[in-house]
Amino acid sequence: MKKLNIYNIVRENVKSLTPYSSARDEFKDFDTDMVFLDANESPYKNGTNRYPDPHQNRLKTQIAKQKGIKKEQILLGNGSDEVLDLIFRVFCEPNEDNIITLPPTYGMYKVLAGVNAIENREVWLTADFQPDVNAILEQIDSNTKLLFICSPNNPTGNAMHGEVVESLLYQFHGMVVIDEAYVDFTGTSSWINVLDRFPNLIVTQTLSKAYGMAGIRLGMCFASKEIIRILKKVKPPYNVNQLTQDQALLGISNQDRVSFNVQEILSERARLFNALGKLDFVKRCFRSDANFILVRVDDANLRYQQLLREGIVVRNRSTQPLCENTLRFTVGTPEENKTLIEVLKTLE
Ligand SMILES: *Cc1c(COP(=O)(O)O)cnc(C)c1O
Repeated sequence: MKKLNIYNIVRENVKSLTPYSSARDEFKDFDTDMVFLDANESPYKNGTNRYPDPHQNRLKTQIAKQKGIKKEQILLGNGSDEVLDLIFRVFCEPNEDNIITLPPTYGMYKVLAGVNAIENREVWLTADFQPDVNAILEQIDSNTKLLFICSPNNPTGNAMHGEVVESLLYQFHGMVVIDEAYVDFTGTSSWINVLDRFPNLIVTQTLSKAYGMAGIRLGMCFASKEIIRILKKVKPPYNVNQLTQDQALLGISNQDRVSFNVQEILSERARLFNALGKLDFVKRCFRSDANFILVRVDDANLRYQQLLREGIVVRNRSTQPLCENTLRFTVGTPEENKTLIEVLKTLE
């Protein structure tokens, strides 16, 4: 592979930025017993009277250990959504650059492209929901900065084939962003493990799904030290609040609970898959590597409304490319899934 110089694809104004230097940057050692009169905070202790650590050192130390990478390869944000927005702002020049997304996929990439005034070039997945490499390569020009690959993909549920993703990593000389929000539910290994091989690889993960902490908003970004250093220049200093840092540290320390819950979701997913496949109005259940199942039915609008009347909310994905008449079912608790199956059996 041609040696990648990241600076060739970073926005001009970002190259010369210096990050905001907060009080906690100038005196870092805030676990010590000092008298802190440097940040105009309230001196009255209540658990949140101090600004949080802008570098989230404790949390990153723990994440780095669990993922087997260096702390300097991690950027944390207020959900993946903030992390993805930072990636746009570092690499994409408004009204000039473009990105490639692969519908049907997560809607946020398109929204963020719009917000940042970046052209979104959509290249549909193939009929088996894999990236169409040749069609993607045809869309790339010198202003194409980012390629978003969601794996496992939302809403289709499948992981992308390793050799397909690798060929894109080799042939595209912008950043390949692999969104692994659902990675904990797949048997395939994370792309984090090959960060050292691909200087143009950015991987995002989240505590919102398998870790059960959607409410605290913690998104994670993994890349080379060089990329993370540039992203940190644009990051707001206190983007991960104290309550989130505390709760995240607690949550990720209990890996046994996370594994237990993931195992239960996986066995429930298999049960739900079988039950859905037996229903007359179900045309097809798509194999899933995530915590949801996409299902093609006879009439998605009708089935959606019928479920709603029974107090069950699912997602109608029928307006998405390749997803005519599909519903997306998130795997719930064993009781919730049982209720769902019972209700589905009564529908006419
Ligand atoms: C749910 C989801 C996320 C999570 O976003 P957060 O902002 O971290 O909650 C990211 N990507 C995809 C594809 C998702 O489905």
